[in-house]
Amino acid sequence: MILKFLIIAAVISVVYIMFFKTKPATQARTKKPKKAKADATNPEINDMTECASCGVYVEVKEAILSNGKYYCSRECLKEAK
Ligand SMILES: [Zn+2]
Repeated sequence: MILKFLIIAAVISVVYIMFFKTKPATQARTKKPKKAKADATNPEINDMTECASCGVYVEVKEAILSNGKYYCSRECLKEAK
């Protein structure tokens, strides 16, 4: 009977450990949207701009800026010139 009680206690403790282990995981999940919000506050990261030559939308970060206009590639920049 004592052994049965110990097994049940062990099972309960394992369930408790698993339950408490999943809690930090859910907290980590809630932290991710906070990071996404932090990215949203910096509009330059995901800001899209239209290529002045071919009209393709490219990220401002990756676009080539020349004379106040954005170009998707060096080829478009050459065509514009
Ligand atoms: Zn282009």
